[in-house]
Amino acid sequence: MSNCNVSEKLFTIRYKCDTESHLVIKETETCLSCKTKDCNYFCPSDVYEWEKKLKITTVAFENCIECGTCRIACPSDNIAWVYPKGGYGITYKYG
Ligand code: SF4
Ligand code: SF4
Repeated sequence: MSNCNVSEKLFTIRYKCDTESHLVIKETETCLSCKTKDCNYFCPSDVYEWEKKLKITTVAFENCIECGTCRIACPSDNIAWVYPKGGYGITYKYG
């Protein structure tokens, strides 16, 4: 049986982080009324987290692996998604 899992695969990725997020929550009010908080579950890198005390969705954009899921998976289409600027983002290393 293989002992590979997603967490181990993530260690093969190299990041170069921008200081500006390439992922933006369009309307914070929309997150407030969102019952399911899907983004807290569908992102493989745990980028999105609902902060109960602050009542906002935080975005740890530095961890994004650019899979594109949040571009289509927010039920309210409340995430503006673009690729990081040239030279930033991730590099996949194989092997
Ligand atoms: S799923 Fe969309 S609307 Fe709901 S909390 Fe996440 S970003 Fe906000
Ligand atoms: S593109 Fe993928 S990894 Fe990046 S924030 Fe969206 S769901 Fe998470």
